[in-house]
Amino acid sequence: MIAAQRFGSLHPIHTTNFLPVVAAPTCTGCGRCVSVCPVGAISLVSAQDPRHRKRKRAQVDEDTCLGCGVCVTACQHASLSLKERPARVITPLNSAHRIVLMAIERGTLQNLIADNQALRSHRAMAAILGVILKLPPIKQALASRQLRSRYLERLLAR
Ligand code: SF4
Ligand code: SF4
Repeated sequence: MIAAQRFGSLHPIHTTNFLPVVAAPTCTGCGRCVSVCPVGAISLVSAQDPRHRKRKRAQVDEDTCLGCGVCVTACQHASLSLKERPARVITPLNSAHRIVLMAIERGTLQNLIADNQALRSHRAMAAILGVILKLPPIKQALASRQLRSRYLERLLAR
């Protein structure tokens, strides 16, 4: 979270599968959630209440939010709850898994291998293929499309 604050938004791959939702009718605009969020993903905006023009409510920036849930526990009015993200985020198991997943998400899997001499070794390629073979079918299809490898296609077809 400190890294997220210092170096800007992380790629969505680093988030949990949840997002906080603000219950507008009960949010008092107290700002507690704003001050506890480690990445500055919540701000106060106008509650659009014609009877109380100065009233504010919390708003979550879904692109920045890490889904950590800290704001949910900090809200004393039970105005925040966690819902599942529409697209499920796969949490990386280790650094090889993380690097391959990030490359697939960014459409740069082929560049990852072509641009890195170190990744052309048998062991590195075996690690990459090992990661791809354990991914869900949709990620495998993306990887296969990016690598355009008949060998990988045959492996995935088994
Ligand atoms: S802590 Fe709860 S009540 Fe206060 S601004 Fe955030 S969501 Fe609204
Ligand atoms: S879940 Fe709440 S505290 Fe955590 S990053 Fe998202 S908005 Fe901030």
